[in-house]
Amino acid sequence: MKGKKVKMPEQDPKKRVNNFKEVTLGYTEEEAIKEANRCLQCKNPLCMQGCPVEVDIPDFIALVAEGEFEKAAQKIKEKNNLPAVCGRVCPQEEQCERKCIVGIKNEAVAIGRLERFVADYARGKEEIEVIGNQDKGKVAIIGAGPAGLTAAADLAKMGYEVTIFEAFHEAGGVLTYGIPEFRLPKDIVKDEIEKIEKLGVEIKYNHVVGKIKGLEELFEEEYKAVFIGTGAGLPRFLGIEGENLNGVYSANEFLTRVNLMKAYRFPEYKTPVHTGEKVAVVGAGNVAMDAARTALRLGAKESIIVYRRGEDEMPARVEEIDHAKEEGIRFELLNNPTEILGDKEGFVKGIKCIRMELGEADDSGRRRPVPIEGSEWIMEVDTVIMAIGQRPNPILLKDAQDIETTKWGTIDACDESGETSKEGVFAGGDTVTGAATVIEAMGAGKRAARAIDDYIKNLRK
Ligand code: FAD
Ligand code: SF4
Repeated sequence: MKGKKVKMPEQDPKKRVNNFKEVTLGYTEEEAIKEANRCLQCKNPLCMQGCPVEVDIPDFIALVAEGEFEKAAQKIKEKNNLPAVCGRVCPQEEQCERKCIVGIKNEAVAIGRLERFVADYARGKEEIEVIGNQDKGKVAIIGAGPAGLTAAADLAKMGYEVTIFEAFHEAGGVLTYGIPEFRLPKDIVKDEIEKIEKLGVEIKYNHVVGKIKGLEELFEEEYKAVFIGTGAGLPRFLGIEGENLNGVYSANEFLTRVNLMKAYRFPEYKTPVHTGEKVAVVGAGNVAMDAARTALRLGAKESIIVYRRGEDEMPARVEEIDHAKEEGIRFELLNNPTEILGDKEGFVKGIKCIRMELGEADDSGRRRPVPIEGSEWIMEVDTVIMAIGQRPNPILLKDAQDIETTKWGTIDACDESGETSKEGVFAGGDTVTGAATVIEAMGAGKRAARAIDDYIKNLRK
């Protein structure tokens, strides 16, 4: 009983590569109760130390074990404003589950799967309670990703009048335009955002702060504090020859066209995306797995991950790598592209790669990939998707030179409070850390909300 996690049902890999429906299907009530009973209810629950938003994990699991699913949902919601999202995409194996005591000798308790079960169970059943009269003053949030949404929800619960300014026509940030439907259904994201709006949070769409209005104007409009949660949406490229050829995408563009513009529902949506027959995705993080699996679902005959390090160094979640393998994604590890080759019409026809071997560990602690001389070879492909990382878009900061940034272009903000070098301006999420995770962005939003509350209280004194 205590040995292995209760398995979560999944769509058959052969079937799911032909559709965009969710891959994992969630626990039944019986499965959830069985899994919850694996929890030891530790007196010193180490799992909680691994949760950046401080969810009371043993208490919610105890409620699941008793069949009190709605109460379990309320318990999670005290701390986590996006539980159905986190239950699906958080790297639990690196966070709460990594610390779980059961995990020392057996498989850790499936905290993420239980969180997802509880959040899904409670959908449509909860009553949203607004705490306070929102009379504590106005706070502006820039960006409606997990960091901004979390800060907004927490501040609204504390009684602030919160407005989010969002560049896109939809909220959610990467949850909406990056992570595909088959991993995170968009009606789930919408539902969690609607609940945050019901707390009294207003979202102003199509507002690119830095273009439509600047930070100073927000203070002139009597916002007492501003939280920047604008993410890291600017893609990186390798800087090799051929990256301007037709058929080369950044993963960001490719996934945005599919998820936000609904290219996968063409012709119902009139925004198709061209996916070739043989697609190479460069990189091995979650973004790369998402792009490779999306290409397969859009009809590519072969979808290949090209990565310069080995299997152990791949940064994607283990579950995503396993799912990609089951779906038939080809892995060309220890290979680095040195040039993208084109035909006479300027379309991609291949990638020149060089084989690599692993040397000593570098600053990141991972073994450094070293090229093997004379090992170049050509991989014939007609589409290349670059998924080698993102950095913050500098638009917002163009007219805000008094906000200090790091050499990587991220905002220099205090880890604990999100305070920046400009008074009244706080920041958190990927725009501070560089591309990271949903739960880290949410944790930063939560800590910043507390710091903003303290800051505004001090203004009143
Ligand atoms: P974002 O989610 O990027 O949100 C920023 C928001 O700010 C966006 O809505 C943007 O439109 C808006 N914005 C930007 N500039 C402006 C402006 N000037 N004015 C107004 N609005 C602006 N993490 C995981 O934990 N698990 C996963 O499985 C996972 N998979 C991923 C898959 C993909 C394809 C990608 C791209 C990322 C993935 N991540 C995953 C990482 C995770 O999604 C991010 O770390 C997280 O979304 C960061 O949250 P954020 O709020 O800081 O930024
Ligand atoms: Fe339960 Fe594991 Fe947390 Fe202990 S550490 S309370 S077993 S989930």
